[in-house]
Amino acid sequence: MYFFELLSSPFFVYITCTLLVLLFVFVSVPISDIAIYHSLNQYDVEQKKSIVEVCPTDVFEYDEESDSVVVRDASRCIFCRECLYHLEDLRAAPEDKLGVTIEHSARKFHFTVETTGAISAENVVREAIAKLSKKILRVKELATQSS
Ligand code: SF4
Repeated sequence: MYFFELLSSPFFVYITCTLLVLLFVFVSVPISDIAIYHSLNQYDVEQKKSIVEVCPTDVFEYDEESDSVVVRDASRCIFCRECLYHLEDLRAAPEDKLGVTIEHSARKFHFTVETTGAISAENVVREAIAKLSKKILRVKELATQSS
């Protein structure tokens, strides 16, 4: 009973609206975790350069000094998997490791926050998290009282 009263209360509507605003304001994009393994060293220079060139967003670069493919900027990855398809074609046998793994990072996200300029984006995020934390605690209190 109390739960349904809570749902229709202005407090709940306020929380819902705030959460929706947060969802619209913060557009989160996962960042990739890219690992390069020693098995890439089996390829010749041209093959290594082809791995770099196949990426549409220049995530990799070829380091002449160490004669190896390195990650230039993992945040540019758009998870298109073109590098993995290319490595599948390059490897000698289907059971060989690809030499590169691309995964969504479980701990890193790229947030885009737009403000009017009155408050910095960093402060908007800090304030929003603080307010959201307070509201979650308040809901928890109300849920505890109703049970
Ligand atoms: S998945 Fe696509 S964007 Fe990401 S590193 Fe590979 S080729 Fe580049």
